[in-house]
Amino acid sequence: STNTLIIGAGGVGNVVAFKCAMNAETFGNITLASRTVSKCDEIAANVKEKTGVQIATAQVDADSVPELVDLIMKTDADIVINVALPYQDLTIMDACTQCGVDYLDTANYEHPDEAKFEYKEQWARNEQFKKADIMGLLGSGFDPGATNVFCAYAQKHYFDEIHTIDILDCNAGDHGYPFATNFNPEINLREVSAKGRYWEEGKWIETEPMEIMQVWDYPEVGPKDSYLLYHEEMESLVKHIKGLKRIRFFMTFGASYLKHMEVLQNVGMLGIEPVEHKGQQIIPIEFLKTLLPDPASLGPRTKGKTNIGIFAKGIKDGKPQTIYIYQVKDHEECYAEVMSQGVSYTTGVPAMIGAKLMLEGVWQGTGVFNMEEMDPDPFMEEMMTQGLPWQVLELGAHEDLRVDD
Ligand code: NDP
Repeated sequence: STNTLIIGAGGVGNVVAFKCAMNAETFGNITLASRTVSKCDEIAANVKEKTGVQIATAQVDADSVPELVDLIMKTDADIVINVALPYQDLTIMDACTQCGVDYLDTANYEHPDEAKFEYKEQWARNEQFKKADIMGLLGSGFDPGATNVFCAYAQKHYFDEIHTIDILDCNAGDHGYPFATNFNPEINLREVSAKGRYWEEGKWIETEPMEIMQVWDYPEVGPKDSYLLYHEEMESLVKHIKGLKRIRFFMTFGASYLKHMEVLQNVGMLGIEPVEHKGQQIIPIEFLKTLLPDPASLGPRTKGKTNIGIFAKGIKDGKPQTIYIYQVKDHEECYAEVMSQGVSYTTGVPAMIGAKLMLEGVWQGTGVFNMEEMDPDPFMEEMMTQGLPWQVLELGAHEDLRVDD
């Protein structure tokens, strides 16, 4: 029978555990492991109560390859789903290589001391994965993840050539706090306080943080201020989407969120270098994480919707073509189903789907892959029935979703 090992018991780990249990015929015996085993036990109890499926739990320090190897052997895992933090990507990948077990993650490796994330070190493991005859699927969350699949789907079914892609990530959820982050605050804050970057005509163009703002009109949500950020899926998409001339990424932020960010930045609370405080070394952003509401606690109080999609322009049969492929999810609906808010939900479901397609042999290969290298159709089909139904808006030659053009 099949054995599935999930590593990481945060917001996303919770959703993955629930969704794997709800697809137990594919995932078989499920083990949820993390640094703090009590969090795994709590999730396991909730999964049992809501789905009737019993999952096992384990303690692991995922920074340690030997500990990971032990756990993978003990559970006899057929796949490792990594939903810990991006800092653990490389150790978990190396443990998978040693054990000859398939690997999946949702975020690319980030060096803990450099606030810099890129695929370089994960792609560099392609040969090792090939030699071990295993598959690594990188970035199987929503963005990256479903957005990469949307691009591949657009290329396959809607375009002869895609010229521009704007990835749009709108979270119109309201948790009622003046300030909180929807997933790991450290990762979230690092992302938005970094310089922006987009790709045009073969070159990366850097912007100041939050320098470019556009108003986009999101279906089922309405117009929202959207800021250009660098986002990791662009690094692989510019390699794999042929004929692309420009790709950008926009994320919505409310005025209150930005005001808090600005102040925190100005007073140094987003710092990643240790500072001395009363004889102790403290990393400001880690201390800030201690003060902020735990993202997991936002679930029961978040209302509203997310809308994430790709807006693509190009040519089909000699004519201009514009489409928006998107998914809308309601936060309260997520909480009712798996006790998580929408951001964890929209990340965890694609992680489960990617793993399901790998275990079923629908997506296969040896080496390390990004999502858009796989056939998008089976993934899109699974999204329809696993809680993330999507739509395609065909906009003709002249219509746009931008409000301020
Ligand atoms: P959380 O911070 O809520 O959870 C992270 C979990 O990983 C915690 O359970 C934590 O344990 C565990 N962990 C951290 N370090 C270790 C370690 N050394 N050994 C074992 N376990 C460890 O994060 P999220 O659930 O919100 O996010 C999970 C992942 O998903 C992140 O990589 C994030 O970047 C990614 N993500 C991807 C998105 C996408 O669309 N692609 C969107 C959102 C998130 P402990 O409880 O002890 O701290």
